Amino acid sequence: MSANAPAPETGNAVQVPTHWYNIQADFPEPMPPHLHPGTNEPITVDDLVGLFPRALAEQELSTERYIEIPQAVRDVYQIWRTTPLVRATRLEQALGTSSRIYLKYEGVSPVGSHKPNSAVAQAYFNKEEGITKLTTETGAGQWGSSLAFAGALFGVDIEIWQVAASYESKPYRRYLMELYGGAVHSSPSELTEAGRAILAATPDTPGSLGMAVSEAVEVAMKEPAARYALGSVLNHVSLHQSVIGLEAIEQLALAGEDTADVVFGCAGGGSNLAGLSFPFLRDVLTKDAKTRVVAAEPVACPSLTEGEYRYDFGDFSGMTPLLKMYTLGKDFVPDPIHAGGLRYHGMAPLLSHAKHIGLVDAVAIAQDKAFHAGILVARTEGIVPAPESTHALAAAFDYLGQNDRDETIVIGVSGHGQLDLPAYGGFLETYDR
Ligand SMILES: *Cc1c(COP(=O)(O)O)cnc(C)c1O
Repeated sequence: MSANAPAPETGNAVQVPTHWYNIQADFPEPMPPHLHPGTNEPITVDDLVGLFPRALAEQELSTERYIEIPQAVRDVYQIWRTTPLVRATRLEQALGTSSRIYLKYEGVSPVGSHKPNSAVAQAYFNKEEGITKLTTETGAGQWGSSLAFAGALFGVDIEIWQVAASYESKPYRRYLMELYGGAVHSSPSELTEAGRAILAATPDTPGSLGMAVSEAVEVAMKEPAARYALGSVLNHVSLHQSVIGLEAIEQLALAGEDTADVVFGCAGGGSNLAGLSFPFLRDVLTKDAKTRVVAAEPVACPSLTEGEYRYDFGDFSGMTPLLKMYTLGKDFVPDPIHAGGLRYHGMAPLLSHAKHIGLVDAVAIAQDKAFHAGILVARTEGIVPAPESTHALAAAFDYLGQNDRDETIVIGVSGHGQLDLPAYGGFLETYDR
């Protein structure tokens, strides 16, 4: 090695955050509490223990501003975090915009999305409390593969109910879940009472996340050493995802930007957008930042833009706590669109509250428009975005088409689409070059 080989630059690199940020500490008015489905009273930590380990139950109800990330979790985050914040100059040129576009790219994680940010934390806290098995649901397979990966690292068995439509159309994700050691069932299944009841009533159902949640919750409630893990929607999941926005703010500062003018993200259950945007909203609520946040959802599952803001169950059978959220109703079964991760009837209560009090706007994006946006990003920046993420990109491009104002734009690219190429392939058949 040459004597004057350059020393690695560590001085100005952004580090993995040491704490998660909890927006509940800073809301001007508190979020409506989750309610116990039996009593309609606000839920307590003790009510949630049994379904979740105590540490996660406490995080779910916490109003502490910062919660320390255990060292063992940070050590795993180090495998892929910090994730890139890419200044997309070629994309800017292609769009002909005077704004600066930054892509916060979560596709570099082992499974290719933001979901391990919470899966790793959940597996860790369960393991710490002696839990040996986690049950869960998955749509496109992103959450299932994230939890299977996390379970492999911490020695927790993972059993997954995958929405039937995705189980059939996305076998690669199932292979990935099985490769990491997870057991995977198509939902609805014959293995649970909930699944058998649904199949008896609607034998040809493509399944839904709500149905798969019912099956996973049922099994977790029956087995003493098993607990349930949810990949989105709940407060503790949004909390874990805050590493995305905390990093992005530091990375923007290194790039010479004070803050973002507008943050875009796709919203299925709301966790990646919550994670990216809440640290920016912290600065809106506690400093005088003016960042606006836009949630992009599919026209086929428009909970924020067309749903009602009311209490609803997180699952199809009504076993979860009642959550105050924008919802299409727990019985809503969306068409089987390609963005499987965006097919959930409700929206994270934290993100719903943020929308309700005017901190977040929402738009609904048609599937074709989303794929167009994904192809443009692939052809300019090389990133093949997940079908979910393309909704955020399309929403941002619409905005930039109408507002050319020299702004700083941050777009959450929640995952890569390299296991979703059949979906792109179908679209490319009708695509004009
Ligand atoms: C699961 C998933 C989503 C949707 O979930 P949120 O909780 O809304 O973030 C978005 N993008 C990708 C890549 C996903 O895997």
